[in-house]
Parts: sequence; structure tokens; C-alpha cells
Amino acid sequence: MHTLSIYEARRWLLEKKISSVELTQCFLDRIHRYSHLNAYITLSEEQALASAKKSDERIAAGSSTGELDGIPLAIKDLFLTKGVRTTAGSKILHNFIPPFESTVSQKLLDAGAVFIGKTNMDEFAMGSANITSHYGNVINPWSQGDKKLVPGGSSGGSAAAVSGHLCVAATGSDTGGSVRQPAAFCGIIGLKPTYGRCSRYGMVAFASSLDQAGPMTKTVRDAAIFLQVISGHDPKDSTSSPESVPDFASFVGKTVEKMKIGVPKEYFLEGMSSEIEDAWKKGMDIMRDAGAKIIEISLPHSKYALPAYYIISPAEASANLARYDGLRYGFRAENIKTLIEMYEKTREEGFGDEVKRRILVGTYVLSAGYYDAYYTKALQVQKLIKRDFTEAFKKVDIIMTPTTPSSAFAIGEEPKDPVSMYLNDVLTVTANIAGLPGISVPICLDKLNRPLGLQFIAPKFREDLLIQHGYILEQNASFPTLREIA
Ligand code: GLN
Repeated sequence: MHTLSIYEARRWLLEKKISSVELTQCFLDRIHRYSHLNAYITLSEEQALASAKKSDERIAAGSSTGELDGIPLAIKDLFLTKGVRTTAGSKILHNFIPPFESTVSQKLLDAGAVFIGKTNMDEFAMGSANITSHYGNVINPWSQGDKKLVPGGSSGGSAAAVSGHLCVAATGSDTGGSVRQPAAFCGIIGLKPTYGRCSRYGMVAFASSLDQAGPMTKTVRDAAIFLQVISGHDPKDSTSSPESVPDFASFVGKTVEKMKIGVPKEYFLEGMSSEIEDAWKKGMDIMRDAGAKIIEISLPHSKYALPAYYIISPAEASANLARYDGLRYGFRAENIKTLIEMYEKTREEGFGDEVKRRILVGTYVLSAGYYDAYYTKALQVQKLIKRDFTEAFKKVDIIMTPTTPSSAFAIGEEPKDPVSMYLNDVLTVTANIAGLPGISVPICLDKLNRPLGLQFIAPKFREDLLIQHGYILEQNASFPTLREIA
């Protein structure tokens, strides 16, 4: 029962093979059994069982219309959930109970979903290994033996919960790769929509011009169903787009014959492992066999995407995180005498090292004298990167690359200096910088039995192409489902 996809679970529920209460209980039991994965920060067991019961009643009465009615989902802990603690992985929000619901989670609730809990994540979504969370590391369910692998980040808890079958699907958020990179590390599907496709209302902000919510699922079809529910314009977020939302699931199974798939030569990184290259070639073979044409393209400014990202995102973060001052909500340091001391001590004690580093970098690049040299420059680079993609999409329909430059690494063996850690995002950040949609699809296991993923990047608002191509890749890659958790 625990390995069911959204699509399958919905059928089983409607055919009354299982009840939502049974399904929900099954996941809650598994979450306790595999608590060492540390995928969740907060569980909402009672609420989950109560809403599962309501779903069962709707199904029994024949009035169940929601796409996700009775389906147990996990929610990344940066989506505000009314009445349920939301920490963003930070000590500074350890006691924060939101008074309202984020648009994305509200849409899921409106579709009948059952929320079983809030998933662990890197603090304020800053990280690539889920080792910056105040609530401890998350373990990748693919770990074997003594080596405990990271799940990727920042949506590491969501990725571990989906791949370890501790929920049917989960929300993630992607500012520089945080949906796609952990999806690749954990062998699941992760889709980052076009910037503006989904509302950011009620998401804890990291870098507002890049942040985007996205589905993390077991199948491409599920990603289509999930995306359908969370997409659309929201008057509460002025950056959400009025663009119409197509029927994403109708692109599942559509042929890719004669489609042109670009492979950017700049993505053959120096020093990239031959296994990653082989996985990429396997993907090209699959798509070619399905009738698509593989075409080499150039995205000449790709190498500047990561540096631009690590200027733009900390700059925005330094402004967004100014609100955590101990005054309005969240953690407040004790034994303080003055207002300034309260700000200083609260932020000193409430934020972790990585968050402080980003605030420092962000404040620096925005400071008088450096603003033009760093921040303005990064925005100029952003324009060039966007132009690269515009040019590329004149020649090809979609782009295919590896999702990550390596497979998951072991906890304790992660790169020790921050810049090497940032290199994890080198293949994913370009899509964020250009505002484009991307999907990661598992392709194979490497020699160490660790999942590898490939990424498709499509033109703006063409998530339909991601579904169409992702599905073909998924069906032909025959990536194994994780059966046992060590
Ligand atoms: N790993 C990247 C970072 O640390 C991306 C994070 C994200 O997408 N939220 O900034």
C-alpha cells in the first residue's frame, strides 16, 4: 500500500480497496518505524486521521471530486500551515504557529489532500545536503551499511519521505535546485515550475525573485496531477502569472517523435564523473529510440550562473530575513537589556552558520560601493543567461542535462568549504536564474547503488513538455522502486 502513486491510490480509494484512514495510518506507522531518517520535523497525526475520515465519508457518499481526496501528503516546513508549527528548519521559528495557510497548501487541501506532517529541510532552504537544519540531518533512504547518505537539499525531508514511502507525495521549493537536486539524490521525480506558475503566498521567503514551489512525487504522472492542483494565478502574489493552466496529465504518454532535444556542450563539466556522462548518454539513447532528435547546443554564459546565483540569492535573503528580529514572532533571546541587544542576541542565537554567511554575503553585495560591482553585475549576467536560453529554444524544443554533478555523498564526507558545497547546484541554478521550468527524472543507479537523475529544462510555461519528455524517459529508464530501508 505504501508504494502507491497518487494516481493508483486515488483509484484504490474510489474502488474502496483501501480507505484513506488505512493509508494514512500506514504512513504514520512507517514514519515511526523509520524515524531515524528524520524526514519530518512536525507530525500532525490527529488532524491527518480526522481529515482522512472525512475523505472516506465523501468517498462513501459518492461526493468525492477532489483530485487528491484522501491522499496523504507531506509538506515542506516552509509552507505556512494554519495552526501547525512551521519552522523553515530554523531555531528562530521553533515556536511559530502560522495564523493562515499558504496558497499552495490551501489548494492541496481544497483538492482533498490529507497532510501528515511538515518535512525537514535546510535552514531557510539554504543548503544542498540537509545538514544545515536546526532539527538534525535527514538520512537518504537509499543509504546502505554504515554510510549514511545525505538526501540532498534543501527539500531533503520531502525527498526522503517520498522515496522512503513515508507519504505518497510532497511539496518542495526550488530557489536554486532544491526540488530537483534532492529528487535526483533520492531517486524520485522533482518538478520546478516556471517562476510565477504557482503562488508564493505563505511560503517562507528565501530569494523572492527565484523561489518557486514544486511537486516531489514517485511518478511523472503524479507530478502532472500535483502541479495541476497547485498552479494558477493568485491575487495575493503579484508575481504569480495569469497564464492559463493546461491539462498537464494529458501530456502523459504523448509521443516525442520529431521533438528536438538540446544537449548543452557547456554542461559536460570538466572533472565530471564518467558515470554521470554515461547516465546522460543513456538518456539520449532512450529519447532517440523514442523518435526524438538530439542536437548539441551552446549556452555560453552557463558558467556564470552559479556566481550570479550566489550574489542575487543572498542579496534577497539578507532583506527577507531582516524580519526575524525577536520582536514579532519566533524565538527571542533571553536576558536582554536594550532593543539593539535583543536584535543582536536573537539573531546570533537564532540563526545557524550557513544562514549567517548568506546574510553577510548579501549585505556586502548590496552595500554602497559594492552594489554595482556585484549586484548590478549579477543582474546583467542574468540577462545574458536568459538570452542564451531564448536563442537555444529557437533551435530545440527542450533541453536535457544531468541534474547533479555527482550522486549523493555520505554524511561526514560532504565538501567542507562552502564554495565546493555550492557546486552541487551548478546544473540546476541556470533554470532559476532564467525563470524556466525543470524536472528531474531518475535514470539509473551508479556503481555504489546511488540514484542519478537527468534534468529537462523547457521554455517558460511549457511544463507540458517536461511531463511529455519526462514520462518517456521514466518509462524507458525502468529505475527501481526502493523496497527496503536499512
Ligand atoms: N542549494 C542551493 C542553496 O543552497 C539551492 C537552495 C534552494 O533551491 N532553496 O542556495
